[in-house]
Amino acid sequence: MQDLIDWQRIDTVLLDMDGTLLDLYFDNHFWLHHVPMIYGQKHNMDMPDAHAHLVTRFGREQGTLKWYSVDFWSEELGLDLALLKKDLAHLIKPRPSAIEFLQAIVESGRHAWLVTNAHHHSLTLKLAHTPLAQYCERIICSHDFDEPKEAPAFWQALQAREHLDPARALFIDDSEPVLKAAHDFGIGQVLTIAQPDSQKPARSGLAFPVLHHFDDIMPIPAR
Ligand SMILES: [Mg+2]
Repeated sequence: MQDLIDWQRIDTVLLDMDGTLLDLYFDNHFWLHHVPMIYGQKHNMDMPDAHAHLVTRFGREQGTLKWYSVDFWSEELGLDLALLKKDLAHLIKPRPSAIEFLQAIVESGRHAWLVTNAHHHSLTLKLAHTPLAQYCERIICSHDFDEPKEAPAFWQALQAREHLDPARALFIDDSEPVLKAAHDFGIGQVLTIAQPDSQKPARSGLAFPVLHHFDDIMPIPAR
């Protein structure tokens, strides 16, 4: 599997957080179980009705920065979502070998950058419960650019601000619209994640080369 990527053409590894470095189970459980449960209690709705109602509302904002905004949804739903997330913080977990992979990137003389659509509240909570920040030279939050990673403008702004050479970057993300924007922009190599949520089956029929396990692209040769 070593030929899944060409390490000799990579200086910087850009890594998504939720579903890539961290198990998406936390987010899926929070938005699709915990929030509907609390919302249902508040509005006297049963769980299936609250779930269906919220999934429709979430769907309307998909792919926009609002969809990722804890403040936006707190206001929309009348719930303190940042506080509710803290209740589930014990479910925040790195995906298998994610920390070892970050360590290997750094030891190989390459740069690891975290590039996330997660809102500042979520980002802060996740960095407090994982060692990601220890290995990531840059923590890039798309909310600072006012554009999500799905937008070409995000990648232009990132290159301009951080002096990134896109051709010599590898980007790993579990979202196909995000990978498409990165690929179209000129990021040299991209990979998607087979199983972003440990409690769901691995995905198939994906449009980009698929990473099943970080071990598949380790060890990382020195630069
Ligand atoms: Mg993701």
